[in-house]
Amino acid sequence: MNPLAPRTTTLTPSLTLAIDAKAKKLKAEGVDVCGFGAGEPDFDTPQHIKDAATAALAAGFTKYTASSGLPELRAAIAEKLKNDNSLDYKPSQVIVNCGAKHSCYNAILATCGVGDEVVIPAPYWLSYPEMVKLADATPVIVPTKEANGFKLTPDEFRDAMTPATKLLILNSPSNPTGAVYTKEELQALAEVALEEDILMLSDEIYEKITYDHTSHISLASLSKEVYDLTITVNGFSKAYSMTGWRLGYIAAPDPIAAAIDSIQSHSTSNPTSFAQKGAIAALQGDQSFISDMHRAFVERRAFMYDKLTSIPGITCVKPMGAFYMLPNISNFGRGSVEFCDRLLAEQNVACVPGVAFGADTHIRLSYACSMDNIQKGLDRIAAFCKSL
Ligand SMILES: *Cc1c(COP(=O)(O)O)cnc(C)c1O
Repeated sequence: MNPLAPRTTTLTPSLTLAIDAKAKKLKAEGVDVCGFGAGEPDFDTPQHIKDAATAALAAGFTKYTASSGLPELRAAIAEKLKNDNSLDYKPSQVIVNCGAKHSCYNAILATCGVGDEVVIPAPYWLSYPEMVKLADATPVIVPTKEANGFKLTPDEFRDAMTPATKLLILNSPSNPTGAVYTKEELQALAEVALEEDILMLSDEIYEKITYDHTSHISLASLSKEVYDLTITVNGFSKAYSMTGWRLGYIAAPDPIAAAIDSIQSHSTSNPTSFAQKGAIAALQGDQSFISDMHRAFVERRAFMYDKLTSIPGITCVKPMGAFYMLPNISNFGRGSVEFCDRLLAEQNVACVPGVAFGADTHIRLSYACSMDNIQKGLDRIAAFCKSL
């Protein structure tokens, strides 16, 4: 008897975790490892947010909440979406989930199933295809071009479409490419979706982290027609450095929001009660943390980009958002896993192989780490590239 359900056997094991485990093992052995694997901001959660959660704990706020989240938090999120993103959602259209990853998963489960195809531009966030498979639907990976800044074009979208296409997943600003879609680019993609009545999941978790006068546009803000086809996903992990709190949310047309609430009510129930109190403080309190964090990222990005692109053989699309770079290593004639394995073994530098994101000619470096780590690590990468 095979104890495993078929859906588990199609899952791809997480390469990010594998390399992370190797790097951690080296570190534990006392090796001076430079890590570029971080998928989370390297800052502590702001104190006033922690205070709100601990006060809630101390006051005994330790019971179940509504599965959809605290009414006060849903109202605060609706207010935020209006003010920051020009999005008109009623609090009842907002469902709070256990992290934006959970939001994406719930949204896919609520809308996709057997026979449905989901268009995912590559390089992609590695969980999207796996979530689609868990929903018994089929991921359709569409490679984007570096020359287009790794952004899906309307023609590429149209070419990927079949009568089975149900959903397009967009992530702007993007992990891992740093691509940020302009309003015009979103408009052009949305027009294709509208022609064929395709749903869109807009993962906006990195909205606060954009550079060089680019700004984040919320897909659902484009028009009423686009709004009706869009599920907006966002959360607290990246903007407020709250990754361990596990809080994210969706905002969607009523029937989709209700279905997501229903799925959640039968699986995880509500997100953690006192964490939600922290989230209210995050949205309603002092926002200066975001600009402080942003300033650090601006400095690191500039340094990393100059240094990376000065290494002979490496080219890199300049990221316009998030905190990752995705340099092209194809000039070295090795796949991304071999490149990263050797880089770790020979120079004690941990990067993530691009194959994890559907881009085997690239590697991902996060700059959610200290300047010291970036300087030292990039010197080692330069030495490694020279040795190849
Ligand atoms: C970090 C991340 C998320 C969600 O993070 P949570 O901690 O689950 O809120 C969602 N999408 C992308 C692309 C991410 O990088």
